[in-house]
Amino acid sequence: MFVQAFEYCRVRTASDASALLREHPSAKLLAGGQSLLASMRMGLLTTEMLVDLQDVAELHSCQLLPGASLELGAMRTHGAIATDGAVREFSPGLAALAGDIADSQVRNMGTIGGSLANADPSACWAAGALALDAEITTSRRTLHIDDFFTGLFGTALEPDEVLTKVRFRRPRRFAYLKHEQSASRFAMVGVAVADFGDHVRVAVNGTFEGAVRVPQFEQALQTRFDAEALANAALPADLMPTDIHAGADYRAHLATVLCKRVVCKMNEGDAP
Ligand SMILES: Cc1cc2nc3c(=O)[nH]c(=O)nc-3n(C[C@H](O)[C@H](O)[C@H](O)COP(=O)(O)OP(=O)(O)OC[C@H]3O[C@@H](n4cnc5c(N)ncnc54)[C@H](O)[C@@H]3O)c2cc1C
Repeated sequence: MFVQAFEYCRVRTASDASALLREHPSAKLLAGGQSLLASMRMGLLTTEMLVDLQDVAELHSCQLLPGASLELGAMRTHGAIATDGAVREFSPGLAALAGDIADSQVRNMGTIGGSLANADPSACWAAGALALDAEITTSRRTLHIDDFFTGLFGTALEPDEVLTKVRFRRPRRFAYLKHEQSASRFAMVGVAVADFGDHVRVAVNGTFEGAVRVPQFEQALQTRFDAEALANAALPADLMPTDIHAGADYRAHLATVLCKRVVCKMNEGDAP
């Protein structure tokens, strides 16, 4: 399918990108193009202008900050995050999440900011960022991750708002596991668990509402951090979709199985 003609602009600052979004209401930000260009090619999305963020230097940053946090620029690619020594030192589980996304072509183009802004229900970063208690910085404010996602493909971002940075607090341990849908290799269900010492956060992707935290799993693990604590914890099946690949009950069951596996992996010391 031919893509409708559009103007292409490269900007050097996030505020220039915001200004273009305000001037051209149908304009779209372009990160790695891994979701956006596919939607345009399929005719699901048309735009008068693409505003390319690749020249905005501040969006490519990766910084360890005082107070044990890691700040990643929105344009940091999955591949760069996966192979960065500082990220691996900060949380090997976080680097592993990035390194398990799709294939190397997608990882070399796809970005953490594009993934979070796109809010695909199966996105690995969505579950990871929720579990890791992330803070999102935009061209106009700072948002806690609990207030960022607003449902399927929905975020709190305003039409002219640019996601600029994602900040993670260092977990004691963190791990993410997914069951891949065999055709797309996207997560059918993925579970991320972060143990912060004084509390545990658990997030699941692949639900009707996108990625969500799971209080049932969090409470169970808070009492006792092992797989047996999850024996009676279940995700409500009505939270999960049914399609040609799997039914809702199976997906809900998968969430519990994956959560148990993540916890075993963390307890084996494989995921500091
Ligand atoms: C074959 C394939 C397999 C994949 N498998 C996986 C997988 O297993 N797990 C997974 O998590 N993901 C997977 N993905 C998605 C991939 O990881 C990309 O990160 C994701 O598609 C976002 O792409 P992007 O960063 O290129 O953003 P783009 O496609 O450029 O943009 C996506 C959307 O976000 C908006 N946007 C981009 N940057 C910003 C910003 N800074 N501020 C505000 N809005 C912004 C854009 O306007 C657009 O609406 C896969 C993709 C493909 C093509």
